Amino acid sequence: MGSKPTGWTADPRDLLRAGPEFSLDEFDRAGKPGFRGKKKDAAALGRERGKLLSELQERLFAEGRTDGQRSVLCVVQGLDTAGKGGVTRHVMSMVDPQGVALHSFGPPTEQELKHNYLWRIRNALPRPGLIGVFDRSHYEDVLVVRVKNLVPEDVWEPRYDEINRFEKELVDSGTIVLKFALMVSHDEQGIRLMERLDRPDKRWKFNPNDLETRAQWPDYQAAYEAVFQRTSTEWAPWYVIPADHKWYSRLAIAEILTQTMIEMNLGWPEPDWDAFDMRDKLAEMMSTKALRASLADTTDTVTGAVAEDAKVQREQIEISVDDKDESQVAARAEERAALAEVRAQRAAQLAELIHTKQQKQRLVAEAKARETLG
Ligand code: AMP
Ligand code: MG
Repeated sequence: MGSKPTGWTADPRDLLRAGPEFSLDEFDRAGKPGFRGKKKDAAALGRERGKLLSELQERLFAEGRTDGQRSVLCVVQGLDTAGKGGVTRHVMSMVDPQGVALHSFGPPTEQELKHNYLWRIRNALPRPGLIGVFDRSHYEDVLVVRVKNLVPEDVWEPRYDEINRFEKELVDSGTIVLKFALMVSHDEQGIRLMERLDRPDKRWKFNPNDLETRAQWPDYQAAYEAVFQRTSTEWAPWYVIPADHKWYSRLAIAEILTQTMIEMNLGWPEPDWDAFDMRDKLAEMMSTKALRASLADTTDTVTGAVAEDAKVQREQIEISVDDKDESQVAARAEERAALAEVRAQRAAQLAELIHTKQQKQRLVAEAKARETLG
């Protein structure tokens, strides 16, 4: 059980995760499960979560640059106009571009067809430290391929189990796999396709084949349902996202990603050198003027960073305490202890700041003496 994030009545992961009994018939594509606010509340919350997500992403990236093996893969599926492109752009705009890797999968090329369908997927997996985003994925090989009979049933049928094994392998090697399916209603898809035809600036997104695909709506729904029922595993669950309100689907996906990354307990890697030593050496290569400017900034930059870090740690504590099925009393006691630890760490960091400033004052004085001598 996840915790209840700000603005939500429950963790969207608990509300949107598909189980083996999942039925699309009962699924409300215009729904906004768990979110009580309006579109404008979503925008404000989205901005706030974006900041946190970006903090977490930087930690993941730093971990990957040291010896970490972890990464995150977001698989985004959905029919035409469901909003895959918008969601991926939105998520990616919240983090540092060097920390995300987007791959879009279209019809396989001649070369890709010579290999197993997972070949191109394996080649596109995120390296440690990265957030990978797939706009369409290996799931097309049990969706479009199944609906359009591109290969016989005895070829696509074993793929569900094969995909589950493949994703288990991925998860075991350190990749967190999040799968999002954007489910738009038949009417809303009609409206969005019509808009693509009406607007000269959107016609490039339209493909006459989209109408053929729309004509096979019931087959696609059945194929999606099979995907949810057979490949929503404990290690790589499907989150089925109502997509008639684009703002909701974006908010829900951003929240699920943020919650997941809070749970990764990401911290900063410890350097194997000493900042005080390095500061002495660097100062020898700096002018008095630059050293003075650096000294003047020290308090602001360090206290700002320490406060940001404490904020992320408090989110991590909140989630980890809520995740344990303990009595309220035990959970609160644990939370208080963990928060006390964060405060102690913060106090230590601020104490270090005093030493840093003393060192820098000494370095400025030494540089000045050097300059008057030379
Ligand atoms: P779009 O995402 O709108 O640019 O379209 C990409 C197209 O590629 C869609 O029509 C997909 O169905 C198709 N596609 C993606 N993967 C496969 C695949 N493995 N086999 C056949 N078609 C695919
Ligand atoms: Mg398309």
